[in-house]
Amino acid sequence: MVYIKAFSRPNIFFIISFLLIASFSSVSTNVSASNNLISNPSAESGSPTDWSKNGWGTNQPEYTLENDAQDGSKSLKVTVNNYTNGDARWSFKDVTVTPNTQYKFSAYYKSSVPIEVDMDSTFTTGIHDYSWLGDLPTSPDNWTQVSYTFTTSNDSKAINIYFPIFSKGWVQTDNYSLVSDSVVPPPTPLPPPTPVSDGFKRPLISIDFDDGWKNAYKSGFPVLDEFGFKGSAMIVTDTTQNPDRYNNLYMNSTEVVNLSNRGHKIGSHSATHVNLVGLNDGQLQSEVVNPKIYLESLLGQPINYFVTPFCEHNAEVTDYVRQHYTIGMRNCDSNVNIKSSFDQYNVNAFPILNTTTLAELQKTISSIKQNNGWLVLMYHEVKPGNEAYSITQANFRAQMQAIKDSGVVVVPSEDAIIEINGQ
Ligand SMILES: [Zn+2]
Repeated sequence: MVYIKAFSRPNIFFIISFLLIASFSSVSTNVSASNNLISNPSAESGSPTDWSKNGWGTNQPEYTLENDAQDGSKSLKVTVNNYTNGDARWSFKDVTVTPNTQYKFSAYYKSSVPIEVDMDSTFTTGIHDYSWLGDLPTSPDNWTQVSYTFTTSNDSKAINIYFPIFSKGWVQTDNYSLVSDSVVPPPTPLPPPTPVSDGFKRPLISIDFDDGWKNAYKSGFPVLDEFGFKGSAMIVTDTTQNPDRYNNLYMNSTEVVNLSNRGHKIGSHSATHVNLVGLNDGQLQSEVVNPKIYLESLLGQPINYFVTPFCEHNAEVTDYVRQHYTIGMRNCDSNVNIKSSFDQYNVNAFPILNTTTLAELQKTISSIKQNNGWLVLMYHEVKPGNEAYSITQANFRAQMQAIKDSGVVVVPSEDAIIEINGQ
């Protein structure tokens, strides 16, 4: 099976800006030149030293060093004059990283078009993994800071983070920083394949839609209804409470209630989709407890399942969630759940990306049929196009058909936990 290591898709645009504001002071005060792991981080020396021009596809990129800088006197610009497909970006020299370690990345950008932030991870096996960190809105006039905190896996070797442009327009970046934040304990190693005797009583599949996208409501859940499947919507409550603030990209409260009335489950995915690791008790209260209170009063029923934003969690976050959510907590570590390692407060989910093939899904389903495992599929958007964390409705329907053809029972995540907990 292909285990994809991926980040849960954060809410675009406004929540990203939220993160920027939230992390601005800590990043700018803590980073000094001595602990920045990026060589020539503001492109001040050479032409510039340790930076390379990268890209793929058919487009006409022009890579320039600009005198308009956020830091020092130079910055990096890519201008795409003609665009058919692919992307173009400046890349710093790969940074060697320590496994199981938390890092903080930040940089400033300006752009005439929406862009994104991606990470290229190299593992000790030499395999590369490309993950999407976020979408960034147009910022033609002002330098905007972005920052991300992430944890390397136990076989990480090197990483690169860049701002690809994938349309006609320009993007300018400056003042990159990557610092090691703290060492986290290594994850439990994956258990060996389990024999059938070690499985749950039957294989199960659950279908989760994270972040509460309106296009999932309009194009994803109706397909579940066609197949008679019940899924779950993991709601970021600030988007539901303030739909206008988020350009109505997310489900409003009426739509959340409607899903619940149709038999789908509603889970809590925090208030504003921030990384919960390192938050104080008051902040955890507003990100973990308040969404529960809001959803319970909206739906008139208990909300006891939590999904961590960006899959970021540690012992403090897990303990806090455990105190308030009786059913469990989900991450997105790209594994199936098997009996010998099952932890209801560390449920594995398998992210479905735009690039996930039907064959990969079928292979994963056949592995859980062999082991009587529980497979949680993590979806985000259902819409045309090829954004990493979106899927077209036609592909989604084909995947649901593959699930139906497999004969494996589909139940909402929280029902699956209740079912297998006693086994
Ligand atoms: Zn999310």
